[in-house]
Amino acid sequence: LWNRCLTRLEDELPSQQFNMWIRPLQVSVSADGAEMTLFAPNRFVVDWVRDKYMERIGEVMGEMEQGPLPQLRLEVGSSRVTEIIPKRQAPEPRPTTAQTAETRPAPPPAPPSDVGLAAKHRSNLNTGFTFPTFVEGKSNRMACAAAQQVAENPASHGYNPLLLYGGVGLGKTHLMHAVGNELLRRNPNAKVVYLHSERFVADMISALRNKTINEFKRFYRSVDALLIDDIQFFAGKEQSQEEFFHTFNALLENGQQIILTCDKFPKEVDGLEERLKSRFGWGLSQPLEPPELETRVAILKKKAEEARIELPNDAAFFIAQRIRSNVRELEGALRRVIAHVRFTGAQIDIGLIKEALKDLIALQARQISIDNIQRTVAEYYKIKIPDLHSPRRTRSVARPRQVAMALSKELTSHSLPEIGASFGGRDHTTVLHACRKVNELRETSPEIEEDYQNLLRTLTS
Ligand code: ADP
Ligand code: MG
Repeated sequence: LWNRCLTRLEDELPSQQFNMWIRPLQVSVSADGAEMTLFAPNRFVVDWVRDKYMERIGEVMGEMEQGPLPQLRLEVGSSRVTEIIPKRQAPEPRPTTAQTAETRPAPPPAPPSDVGLAAKHRSNLNTGFTFPTFVEGKSNRMACAAAQQVAENPASHGYNPLLLYGGVGLGKTHLMHAVGNELLRRNPNAKVVYLHSERFVADMISALRNKTINEFKRFYRSVDALLIDDIQFFAGKEQSQEEFFHTFNALLENGQQIILTCDKFPKEVDGLEERLKSRFGWGLSQPLEPPELETRVAILKKKAEEARIELPNDAAFFIAQRIRSNVRELEGALRRVIAHVRFTGAQIDIGLIKEALKDLIALQARQISIDNIQRTVAEYYKIKIPDLHSPRRTRSVARPRQVAMALSKELTSHSLPEIGASFGGRDHTTVLHACRKVNELRETSPEIEEDYQNLLRTLTS
């Protein structure tokens, strides 16, 4: 289980973060499988991981594991010395998700995950992921409407399968569970099964190994609704795709609902069979886009309300303007602010938010792309983006181009040759020259300095 989580986290997190905080963790699982302890090299890592990653680790575990989740602990130590660490009540991490808190079944004895598939009728939906807790906005309106439609009329023509696609943290898993929860609310006897595609693959492999593949097939074909998350993980796994293809067809023929999510439009997933790609497109595919400012503000207000925290409008705007990538990051930022409030007892204001989020804001700044810089610079100087790539040397485009290169050097971690390549295939010495020139001009020309500062501010705020 931990290894699968690792693979997943490695995909999700910037590699520097993954290597620094997650990779060093050692794992040890108690003999009965009821407890999983992650050992960190020191107290600092424990605190950092607990603060920044524990919740996500819990969520990923929930997605990977259909059966009961082990109790997760985080301690200083090493897995090699577990035998001599006396068993004690370690300070418990916060319940990791609504799911683990509310739907975690009574403690095991857990059956090994590959037996008794048919016995697992209990739904494993996250009860916190519902329609009422989902904030609608321009970026997700179509997807949300489609999901509601499916929840009201499952397996209706044209809506099967329902495929939700888009980047990480945009609400795909949430919406998918919302449909499942709504189906169950309307029909408590419905058999709704959620699983991550990696779980499907793992279950299938163990079913093959244990010669229970027929049971496996029967199980998946007996559901009213099958929710498979992140199907991009089927890529390159031919046998799983084959099996999934058959399951998929059987369900469609029987009028059972299928809901899928993918991190991009399936046609663009390499290593996915053509026949699957075309099948996935038979029903309805809806994209989830990154939320615009107003939606980000609305999401923050809603989550603050759920946490019973008073979040003033200007504070919500301040956060939403700085955390732009996705909803998961937005939630993470808000959680930090809330923790800060609880810890210091202070009122939420801009100063507190700046303090609580200072490293996030700095990180965001470091993740600025050259694309982003080019767009901002072109807009600022009222030139066209292609002018930044073109060989033209007139002052009106050459100067902005140099400024954009200097900003790329300052704000991204790209090398000089990489930056040159992004500006119409220029040589790294050209980039170096541009950086020097801009630095020199900033000293001598107040206008250039002002432009540069304005651009820096736009790009990093
Ligand atoms: P994805 O599956 O697309 O990576 P998730 O569904 O896991 O993203 O969403 C990440 C987090 O953001 C979840 O906690 C989810 O509840 C929250 N979230 C995403 N979109 C919304 C939204 N529109 N309204 C409220 N919460 C949202
Ligand atoms: Mg997801």
